[in-house]
Amino acid sequence: MPKIKSPRKPRARSKKTPVPRLTAQEIIKLLGPSYGPFEHARRLDPAEEVVFTILSQHTSDTNSERAFHRLMEEFGSLEAVAQGDVERIAQAVNIGGLARIKAPRIKRVLNLILEKQGNLNLTFLAEMPLKEAKAWLRELPGIGPKSAAVILCFSLGMPAMAVDTHVHRVSKRLGLIGPKVNADNAHDILEAMVEPQEVYPFHVALITHGRRVCKAPRPRCAECVLAFGCPSRDLFLAPAKTA
Ligand code: SF4
Repeated sequence: MPKIKSPRKPRARSKKTPVPRLTAQEIIKLLGPSYGPFEHARRLDPAEEVVFTILSQHTSDTNSERAFHRLMEEFGSLEAVAQGDVERIAQAVNIGGLARIKAPRIKRVLNLILEKQGNLNLTFLAEMPLKEAKAWLRELPGIGPKSAAVILCFSLGMPAMAVDTHVHRVSKRLGLIGPKVNADNAHDILEAMVEPQEVYPFHVALITHGRRVCKAPRPRCAECVLAFGCPSRDLFLAPAKTA
């Protein structure tokens, strides 16, 4: 791979200047010093991760974490949640928002898993081909491509690329995906750009960059180490000085 260099204070390019496109591998390498090391650490048991992803829909990480901890404090186990009263579940997760939708969904999903498997142990998914494991999870209500990828990647260490709003936005700005590609379709496209062992670093690099630098609506292009290879930076930077 050629040596990658980033100018210190980027300005918008002249229209004639071609923009070098960065590969996924170059992006991981450039963002590694700031956001790495990208070491995978299992967050939750897979069934817990299923519940956590439902709680994290349309709310902040902080609120979903609080809601999850309150739920577990209240019931003690997911098996008890599955047997629990929906109103009591809703009260426990209220801090996460949309409790009237999330509480019945959590109960239903847990009972569906129990019906299918006889228990809440989802570690068998790690033995399945990635595509089949995704499909199995996506049959559960409220589990879309992002949630399925989060569960498989974060809990089971599988090479599933999760595309949230940050990953989607940064990928579009960097030209990794086309401007009309939606987040659902971006999962397979971005996942195919990297080797399985690079999926987690790629996800963490992009999501962290989106949170810290490539923000919506005002990205900090002047301090972005990817600016020299970003086709979108000229939309946000001051124009280049002409002689
Ligand atoms: S140059 Fe700007 S738009 Fe491009 S990745 Fe960096 S912060 Fe985002």
